[in-house]
Amino acid sequence: MGEIEHHKRVVVVGAGFGGLSAAKRLSGHSLDILLVDRNNYHLFVPLLYQVATGNLGEEEVARPLRQIFRSHPDAQGERTPKEVKQLLLMKGTAL
Ligand SMILES: Cc1cc2nc3c(=O)[nH]c(=O)nc-3n(C[C@H](O)[C@H](O)[C@H](O)COP(=O)(O)OP(=O)(O)OC[C@H]3O[C@@H](n4cnc5c(N)ncnc54)[C@H](O)[C@@H]3O)c2cc1C
Repeated sequence: MGEIEHHKRVVVVGAGFGGLSAAKRLSGHSLDILLVDRNNYHLFVPLLYQVATGNLGEEEVARPLRQIFRSHPDAQGERTPKEVKQLLLMKGTAL
């Protein structure tokens, strides 16, 4: 039987440009990456005005996190479960 590899888990909070970029940069470095956001999609904020002026549909400025990370098997993106109020760090600090 093969050995199970245990990778360090990294939780990235927020799927804005910063969070997406961090998760993608960490991918491929033997980590288990979980990106959480209050929404289950990334919103491309700079194009919001196009939605407001009717040039783009909402679906054209928002992309599901699962779809974004499809090509990154070590990374997973999802909505923060409603019951989660705090993130406990290894040394006991809470965010
Ligand atoms: C109308 C507009 C146009 C812009 N145009 C440009 C432009 O042309 N060029 C440019 O360089 N910049 C532009 N900006 C600025 C750019 O959008 C921001 O600098 C960038 O989005 C910041 O990225 P971020 O990842 O730090 O934060 P954000 O993009 O704000 O992402 C934060 C993420 O964290 C999530 N989040 C927040 N709180 C929680 C929580 N408690 N739990 C879970 N998730 C949470 C949010 O849902 C969000 O997805 C524009 C901004 C606006 C508003």
